[in-house]
Amino acid sequence: MATIFSMIAAGQIPSYKIAEDENYYAFLDINPLAKGHTLVIPKKEVDYIFDLDDATYEGLWAFAKKVAAGIKTAIPCKRVGVAVLGMEVPHAHIHLVPLQKEGDLNFRNKKLSLTPEEFQEIAQKIAAAV
Ligand code: 5GP
Repeated sequence: MATIFSMIAAGQIPSYKIAEDENYYAFLDINPLAKGHTLVIPKKEVDYIFDLDDATYEGLWAFAKKVAAGIKTAIPCKRVGVAVLGMEVPHAHIHLVPLQKEGDLNFRNKKLSLTPEEFQEIAQKIAAAV
């Protein structure tokens, strides 16, 4: 059965899309640590990021780099932080989180509750900057 992230990349489940190419897809995390918290996935369905073949793995980070530059342009932040967990969804993904301070990348922090309009506005801003 397809993972939830494969269904998102295929458009079968809605998402706030940031960027896409033939092999990768980026979209807003639905429970964000900060405005602009983005997930970057390979369309190839592999659970553990370090099980990806080298080409897909390297391409994923190159794609994430482009998306991070867009986030940095669109969202006021000091840095874009990176995390890889995969404790919840068994489909390799990179978290990109706009940071003001170190503690902003703590996954125990309370998640933001944003309206669909806020998600849409953030996604549009970042997508335009990628
Ligand atoms: P992890 O697997 O890295 O521990 O966490 C998975 C992340 O995916 C979480 O931050 C969670 O909020 C996000 N997530 C889980 N399901 C969905 C979904 O259906 N849509 C979106 N946009 N994000 C999701």
